Amino acid sequence: AKSQGRNNVQFFSPELDLFAMRRMRMEHDLREALASRSFELHYQPQVDARSRTIVGVEALVRWRNSARETIMPGEFIEIAEQSGLILPLGECVIDEACRQLRIWRDQGYTALRMAVNLSALQLRSANLLDFVAATLLKHEIGGEHLELEITESMVMDNPGACIAKLRALRDMGIHLAIDDFGTGYSSLSNLRLMPIHSLKIDRSFVRNIESDSDDLVICTATIALAHNLGLKVVAEGVETSAQRDLLAGHGCDVLQGYLFSKPVDAAAMDALLAVSY
Ligand code: C2E
Ligand code: CA
Ligand code: CA
Ligand code: CA
Repeated sequence: AKSQGRNNVQFFSPELDLFAMRRMRMEHDLREALASRSFELHYQPQVDARSRTIVGVEALVRWRNSARETIMPGEFIEIAEQSGLILPLGECVIDEACRQLRIWRDQGYTALRMAVNLSALQLRSANLLDFVAATLLKHEIGGEHLELEITESMVMDNPGACIAKLRALRDMGIHLAIDDFGTGYSSLSNLRLMPIHSLKIDRSFVRNIESDSDDLVICTATIALAHNLGLKVVAEGVETSAQRDLLAGHGCDVLQGYLFSKPVDAAAMDALLAVSY
């Protein structure tokens, strides 16, 4: 038995061990961060391509760890998802986004829409509809001021169940956007069945739009597809005025990216709203 134990130990490479330990550590830290409310939201403006005014903001979560460092979602969302912690975290995000939206609405930004990213697990969760309904009620926000961003892959997992749930959200007035459009599994026939309001062109297609004619074709084809399906198009990752002008010229409805602003905290977003709402 002893030698077998040794063999088992040898089965794991040191790298794997380190990986597993980092993950366990991260999961533990995430749990503590949830308890101590160490997550905050940053907001990135979404700008109407014609009027250049802010029509919405996307909420993006950040983690302030005990050393007061900001940890980006790319470093923890996946582990939050795998450990199930994305469910309580996702609820915090929806609640905080709605609380902040209510504040902005009370300041007079009455048409502003708040976009929130959903994870696959949240969309599958039986509690999502009740939670969203209760949160809208709690902050006295109409569903039409909330937009939920989902990805194609999340829906392709289980199209029937997802589409039913998305319909229920839509019936609450909530807007639905397909995030990272074009990067995941796609089924155009499912797209047609989805009760969505907009497509977000992934920033990987926007990045080289000026120099890569294939990327430009993908963007213009996506805009045409969306408009033919009665959907709005948001381009993400707009960093240059040339990208802005190309996308706006091809009829893209809404633009989002560093050209307008990086995601900023609520106080900085206040200032942006004051000048360009
Ligand atoms: P995403 O939903 O595609 O969000 C856009 C990401 O692109 C954000 O990164 C944003 O800061 C970044 N970005 C925006 N404009 C530009 C630009 O012009 N150039 C470049 N290079 N990047 C730009 P962030 O905040 O690090 O978020 C990364 C991802 O983490 C998000 O991608 C989303 O998938 C996920 N995420 C963020 N917040 C949440 C959340 O509350 N819940 C869930 N489930 N996922 C979230
Ligand atoms: Ca998003
Ligand atoms: Ca995206
Ligand atoms: Ca993404």
